[in-house]
Amino acid sequence: MTDHADHSHLSDTELRVRALESLLADKGLVDPAALDAIVDTYENKVGPRNGARVVARAWIDPEFKQWLLRDGTAAIDSLGYTSTQGADIVVLENTPAVHNLTVCTLCSCYPWAVLGLPPAWYKSFPYRSRAVRDPRGVLREFGQDIGDDVEVRVWDSTAEVRYLVLPERPPGTAGLAEDELAELVTRNSMIGTDRLSEVKKNQ
Ligand code: FE
Repeated sequence: MTDHADHSHLSDTELRVRALESLLADKGLVDPAALDAIVDTYENKVGPRNGARVVARAWIDPEFKQWLLRDGTAAIDSLGYTSTQGADIVVLENTPAVHNLTVCTLCSCYPWAVLGLPPAWYKSFPYRSRAVRDPRGVLREFGQDIGDDVEVRVWDSTAEVRYLVLPERPPGTAGLAEDELAELVTRNSMIGTDRLSEVKKNQ
């Protein structure tokens, strides 16, 4: 109950926002399509770019990476991405032997400071339940076939602790600058439903 208490507020807020949105749309004062575009921006572009810069820094700066893995909250704060949720951020390193997947089984706890707003599927009941029961099946649906030799670890977020996955640096990126590396980091790779096994354009 207390772990996810902030989400009772969120649901309440969401309801109020929806009521306001309908009212404003009915009166012709806002365009729902424009609102959708704004939400999409924060869900997919602005928010996750913070996390991508954290990941790129960790890839090029071994000392920063060690700090990030030891005290994610402080290391992330040092780049200016301060959590306003009062939650700690724990960073989970993917390796050839370990793949990390994050979920919030009770609601939708998510590291807003580095990833922005959670995508709708993250909040959905099927993801929340199946990520724990059948993580490899879920990963397969995201196009990730995780070999039996790789351990899959599932981390359940709470109001106090949110998780950020540090994906493996893709091969063939040795010559790239930090900004270029950040462009390769997808939102889903930091949730754990994607792997950056090859260089591809940001989704
Ligand atoms: Fe939650």
